[in-house]
Amino acid sequence: SDIGSQKERVVTEEEWLQKWEMGNIGFHKEQGHPLLQKYLDVLLNGRSGLRIFFPLCGKAVEMKWLADMGHSVVGVEVSEQAVKEFFSEHSLPYYEEPVPEITGAKMFQSTSGNISLYCCSIYDLSSSIVGKFDGVWDRGALVAVNPCDRQRYASLMINLVEKNSSYLLVTVSYDPNKHKGPPFYVPESEIKSLFG
Ligand code: SAH
Repeated sequence: SDIGSQKERVVTEEEWLQKWEMGNIGFHKEQGHPLLQKYLDVLLNGRSGLRIFFPLCGKAVEMKWLADMGHSVVGVEVSEQAVKEFFSEHSLPYYEEPVPEITGAKMFQSTSGNISLYCCSIYDLSSSIVGKFDGVWDRGALVAVNPCDRQRYASLMINLVEKNSSYLLVTVSYDPNKHKGPPFYVPESEIKSLFG
């Protein structure tokens, strides 16, 4: 479980914004992720009307799926372009407002009220701002976080979930000496020590 040279790698917010500007978004799945379909029952666990969190959400189409099933979706994403593309590509009317607790942040909400996307860094959020969640879809999120920030990310996520919540995590497995990432290789042993 040696993550090699990836330990030191840092991708800045500016670089993420550039990826969006350049259309360099190979991570985006137009058709949604098959693993969410497959494990939907595990996420929902027979419950309805859940609050579901999408960390580092991009313009993930799964947010629309879950909202259409009657759940309430909250996402966070640094790229305003990504957030706006999400709403326009699904023809969802929305409004935007500042987030009083976070300097410079904006919240974009569908007018129907069931999708709220915070445009800021995830590290600016806390449960006093966004509340707690019953479910998390973590795809392209833990694996996109800089390796040096993983502990901080995991602690925050643990703080943002209710006691009876389900957390679906998608990781990737490959030789970390052959690619620099993201997505980064997060060994299973590290996931266990991060989340307990
Ligand atoms: N989960 C999405 C996007 C994965 S790519 C999907 O499945 O398609 C990772 C995303 O995280 C990018 O859109 C990037 O702009 C965003 N991002 C990177 N660092 C962030 C941070 N600190 N806070 C919020 N978003 C961030």
